[in-house]
Amino acid sequence: MKPLVSIRGLCKSFGDIEVLHDVDLDIHHGEVVVVVGPSGSGKSTLCRCVNRLEQIDSGTITLDGEPLPAEGKRLAQLRADVGMVFQSFNLFAHRTILDNVTLGPVKVRGMPVREAETEARRLLDRVGVGDQAGKLPAELSGGQQQRVAIARALAMSPKLVLFDEPTSALDPEMVHEVLDVMTSLAADGTTMVVVTHEMGFARKAANRVVFMSDGRIAEQGTPEEFFDRTSTERARDFLSKVL
Ligand code: ADP
Ligand code: MG
Repeated sequence: MKPLVSIRGLCKSFGDIEVLHDVDLDIHHGEVVVVVGPSGSGKSTLCRCVNRLEQIDSGTITLDGEPLPAEGKRLAQLRADVGMVFQSFNLFAHRTILDNVTLGPVKVRGMPVREAETEARRLLDRVGVGDQAGKLPAELSGGQQQRVAIARALAMSPKLVLFDEPTSALDPEMVHEVLDVMTSLAADGTTMVVVTHEMGFARKAANRVVFMSDGRIAEQGTPEEFFDRTSTERARDFLSKVL
């Protein structure tokens, strides 16, 4: 089966600094790819290129067989199929939890409000915050807000969800509640790319671990291969610091 996302020869610079060097990566339907690597290695930039929050300098990114265009209406349509969950939640502060989850489907997908609300309540229940629907984001804990952000991403029925360090801003006691939701999504066949330093999650939930170093994929493999039979010095060095 052809991959859901196919990245070929991706290069990206900021000014004179090349941040991604000739990256090739395929993500298959239903696959959970965990991306790890030192700070500054290009993990966030890679995610941002996949949904074109960043323009790319060269290479191609194909989503479900269709190359992402540089701009325009079709790009907006394709981007709507890629959910993104950020470290900082990014909920709309002045909208209720329910509105946060329904706005995308109503405004971008043209879904009737009643239908979007029914679906939003189902998703909020699924991530364990169904009873918070009428509140504002600031009334929720960080872990609850991040679970709302996940529900919001899912409400668009994305083909792929990108998670960029979704638990890094959370107090330690809230990390597991977010990882539990992500583990359940992974088990349900959601196609996911997860940038994280949570190596326990990587080992348990990943189909494949991708290790980035200096803007390149330095090593990749199954969790067993990556953690138990690490092949590069750089990855060994990284793991010695995070495990
Ligand atoms: P990671 O997520 O692995 O920590 P990033 O993708 O955020 O790495 O960053 C990779 C490199 O690109 C870093 O050197 C960072 O400083 C640089 N970078 C990221 N975004 C920008 C930007 N908008 N402008 C300039 N440099 C950037
Ligand atoms: Mg980052």
